[in-house]
Amino acid sequence: MDTQAGKATAAASANAGALARYRGDFLREVEERVEEGEWVKMCMQCGVCAGSCPFGPHWEHSPQKLFMMIRAGKRDEVLGSDAMFMCTSCYNCVVRCPRKLPITHIMHGLANYAHRLGLAPKGQPTREFATMFWNNLARTGRINELRLTLGHYFRNGFAAGIREALTMKAVGLGLLKAKRLNPLEIVGGHGVKDVKGLHAIIARAREIEDRKQGLRS
Ligand code: SF4
Ligand code: SF4
Repeated sequence: MDTQAGKATAAASANAGALARYRGDFLREVEERVEEGEWVKMCMQCGVCAGSCPFGPHWEHSPQKLFMMIRAGKRDEVLGSDAMFMCTSCYNCVVRCPRKLPITHIMHGLANYAHRLGLAPKGQPTREFATMFWNNLARTGRINELRLTLGHYFRNGFAAGIREALTMKAVGLGLLKAKRLNPLEIVGGHGVKDVKGLHAIIARAREIEDRKQGLRS
């Protein structure tokens, strides 16, 4: 099921399956299905991560808050939060946490789980760009910068794309001059030698992840 509608149906059914399986025990769900989720119960709510995070004053849910909400069973609020998508992987929290929780990994694990269940906030910019980046990369194993840039600029339509491209004209010309942007990439672009092999590896990894997250039996 690779179409958008197919993915949405699979996500909705995985979400329904998770609700039926865990019956309100969200902590157990996170422990079993989210990367490094088994660490959440070790949090002692000291607040060091919240105080160390550069996003501290700007987001609604710090890691400390999210971990408390997970234990309180606030599934909708956690999986619908955009906080995990804003984590910049600076690792400030990880090096300072007295309990040594792999906070950054849990944040990304939660983001991935919410995304795959179709519960992540729609239009969240980091999530949209990450999806675009991944789809671009997974095609040939190498990023096609030109297509990625065009996809990003024109994501809101043609006129908005032209406007956004013009504001970045100087950067684009600089990249072309420095041979960091190849116009010929529009017709193909470079890739790894064994693209078929790469796709087989990705498919296998997805299968393992799907099973863990209840997206296939
Ligand atoms: S620093 Fe560690 S123990 Fe303290 S609130 Fe954050 S995750 Fe919990
Ligand atoms: S790794 Fe993420 S959650 Fe941790 S301090 Fe940095 S931005 Fe905040």
